[in-house]
Amino acid sequence: MRLSAAEEKGIRMAREAGLRWGITPYYASLMDPGDPSCPIRRQAIPSAEEFGEDGAGSPDPLGEEASSPVPGLIRLYADRVAWCVSDVCAMYCRHCYRRRFTGEVREGPAPAGTDPYQRAISYIARTREIRDVLVTGGDPFLLPDAAIETVLKRLRAIPHVEIVRFGTRTPVTMPQRITPRLCAMLRRYHPLWINTQFNHPREVTPRAQRACAMLADAGVPLGNQSVLLRGVNDGPGLIAELGKALVRIRVRPYYLFQCHLVSGTAHFRTPVEAGIEAVASMRGTTTGFAVPVFVVDTPYGKVPLNPETVVDRDADAVYLRAYDGRIWRETNPAPDRPGSAKRTPTGQWSEPMIRGRMKASSSSGARPRDRQK
Ligand SMILES: *Cc1c(COP(=O)(O)O)cnc(C)c1O
Repeated sequence: MRLSAAEEKGIRMAREAGLRWGITPYYASLMDPGDPSCPIRRQAIPSAEEFGEDGAGSPDPLGEEASSPVPGLIRLYADRVAWCVSDVCAMYCRHCYRRRFTGEVREGPAPAGTDPYQRAISYIARTREIRDVLVTGGDPFLLPDAAIETVLKRLRAIPHVEIVRFGTRTPVTMPQRITPRLCAMLRRYHPLWINTQFNHPREVTPRAQRACAMLADAGVPLGNQSVLLRGVNDGPGLIAELGKALVRIRVRPYYLFQCHLVSGTAHFRTPVEAGIEAVASMRGTTTGFAVPVFVVDTPYGKVPLNPETVVDRDADAVYLRAYDGRIWRETNPAPDRPGSAKRTPTGQWSEPMIRGRMKASSSSGARPRDRQK
């Protein structure tokens, strides 16, 4: 293919900076060889833009290193933990927020006779609140089947681990990795969930569809975590089109992420209003479960940003904005906790009371530690 000047420079600069790049032949086959603004190219080929000024970016925008109780584990929530079991990927996304280590192969293979999983497994085993383990990386499906099975066996030996989920982009970037053998192994360790990352309808190919069908037929519910990326999928209707394409291949849109504030991704970032608008425009115009939740990932956890739908409240009703803009008055009892409801002098229920209640009902569960500054 013909590389643009920005791509050639990007590849050179990535090499100088020690920043890994790599693309599978399959993913490269989806590229438009004549169009440098191709959404597949923008996700995969380094660009000089990654090395420009980025005042807002940092190497570890979620402070994951600081929320890591043992190497490889990231614990932001009391009941679930992310476990990075691999630091390699099939394709190195140009928007990766873990680019500080992906592709680096920092430690090499574990020396013979040592156990690379011991510290993470023993932390999970002694931390009884953890009921959900998110196996991620890098890409965990870059491990051989036998290593994935070892991870699963050892997690399944811990009684309080109720569910295991994998975060893998292989159905999108290397669907050939999803083999009958892998699926036959996975199905012995249910309940298992998988989240992948389709970002553009052009990635929803017959080959990707086959990979997803094999996993779904093995009983694995599939979710999708997209990232909203300028010049990739922020065009009109693209997120809606992607949502519809995903439910056709049995993948349920889960999250749509605001692009992380990781160094070198300034050219991908969109205003949060773009994400709110993308999901708001889908509500009422397509299948409810084709609509992802738009979230900003922060060091304090994921924060969903929803279109405002409760527009007002009075003593016995809430006023709700429907998808088409019409306002519905829904009769609604007053809050019954004594002292929680305050009437303003005009007889209206006060705004801070409404906000306070919403906050109280959405923040459940204690944090593993107090993260307030
Ligand atoms: C995203 C994430 C999770 C999982 O969050 P869900 O909202 O349950 O999908 C868990 N741990 C960490 C560190 C995460 O970033």
